[in-house]
Amino acid sequence: MRILVVEDEFKTADYLRKGLSESGYLVEVALNGLDGQHLIRESEFDLIILDVMLPGIDGWQLLQIVRRKAQTPVLFLTARDAVEDRVKGLELGADDYLVKPFSYAELLARVRTLLRRGPPREVEHFRVADLELDLLRRRVTRQGERLTLTNKEFALLHLLLSREGEVLSRAQIASQVWQMNFDSDTNVVDVAIRRLRAKVDDPYQPKLIHTVRGMGYLLEVPE
Ligand code: CA
Repeated sequence: MRILVVEDEFKTADYLRKGLSESGYLVEVALNGLDGQHLIRESEFDLIILDVMLPGIDGWQLLQIVRRKAQTPVLFLTARDAVEDRVKGLELGADDYLVKPFSYAELLARVRTLLRRGPPREVEHFRVADLELDLLRRRVTRQGERLTLTNKEFALLHLLLSREGEVLSRAQIASQVWQMNFDSDTNVVDVAIRRLRAKVDDPYQPKLIHTVRGMGYLLEVPE
């Protein structure tokens, strides 16, 4: 498992390199944004740990570069416990964050979770409550009734089902369903969700597609 650490504070970078190496990971360290950008473009990693405050190219810009290329999990490190930072990071497609200072045990737990999660499962048949999606036959039913979805609605529902219980940001949805990057008009996501809900949720109980304010959407059976 290869991990890239982009962190300009030498002490923190060194601490992460030593710890993660001892935990059995192959670690590459970039001490500035430019080196980070170079490594992201030239190599493949299983996980990227990204400090937000970097001279030159900052963590947000690097995150956008990562997302243009791949779905590599990204854990970002933020010095401030600012809600805007967390929302921004997740909107830009990061998978998780840690607020500095953090303990190594805490970091390792996040790293393990992100690596275990891996790429979305290749499943052909999904069922959540009485909603079913058959990928091969391109068929969606709820309470046994056949629903007619457009191609994009089908792709959107497939994405939500394959990541059941996970909050997906508008940016993540836009990039996976429309292949648009984060700075495009993500209003298209809200419109598509509304249309999908009208077919999948409005006539039925329980509601399965949920809005998470300031974060995005998730599909799950409510408790
Ligand atoms: Ca920094």
